[in-house]
Amino acid sequence: MRIVLMGPPGAGKGTQAARLAARAGVPHISTGDMFRQAVREGTPLGLEAKGYMDRGALVPDEVTIGIVRERLRQEDAARGFVFDGFPRTTVQAEALDRILAELERPLEAAVELVVPDAEIVRRLAGRRVCPQCGATYHVEFQPPARPGVCDRCGAELAQRPDDREETVRERLAVYRRQTAPLVDYYRAAGILVQVDGTGAVDAVTASVLEALR
Ligand code: ADP
Ligand code: AMP
Repeated sequence: MRIVLMGPPGAGKGTQAARLAARAGVPHISTGDMFRQAVREGTPLGLEAKGYMDRGALVPDEVTIGIVRERLRQEDAARGFVFDGFPRTTVQAEALDRILAELERPLEAAVELVVPDAEIVRRLAGRRVCPQCGATYHVEFQPPARPGVCDRCGAELAQRPDDREETVRERLAVYRRQTAPLVDYYRAAGILVQVDGTGAVDAVTASVLEALR
């Protein structure tokens, strides 16, 4: 499986990417998770990324493309990958095409999770994440067994700083301006797959798998 998952913040990319990647035995590559880890560890990459993330802006293309190029060199990515949150600009999409062409492993599909705005706002407002292992929950739609506690590792769940209302507005605007045009990019390439992302988590996974067959 060599795919990218697209859709606005809160569409369910992370949730679906984790499930699809586990099923296919390939890595789930989330540039957002990579940046958040770098911020936690206080690395130079993290220090650079943090300012952009806090205001809901995109990290510069050359930085983002650099970390993806490195990640694709790792052995596990030879089996395939599920990208989540990358690419987010036309420059990134073109760079990904070039990197994959060099590796002779082109993308098989770009899957767009289609979710209306009102639902996006509810999903982001209720999203909770585990700061320790990265697991994602929703207070109403995907609650942990014990409120506020991670099922996987027992850590205390938190809200992402960029899920605050003002930052969400900016992230959605950035999505429309810079990332939504990629739908046409992948349609023109003949690999766009659009899936209704509004059903239950299991139903969406089933729809993606069906659409990829
Ligand atoms: P993205 O990675 O696209 O930003 P997430 O996978 O983090 O989105 O999902 C955003 C929020 O919506 C999370 O709180 C998640 O638990 C919840 N969620 C994901 N998929 C669904 C779904 N099909 N139905 C209801 N809630 C969902
Ligand atoms: P995400 O976890 O995908 O919602 O990403 C969180 C934040 O990380 C974004 O709002 C950006 O600031 C940054 N980020 C993640 N992926 C990218 C990318 N492909 N290009 C630029 N910035 C990104």
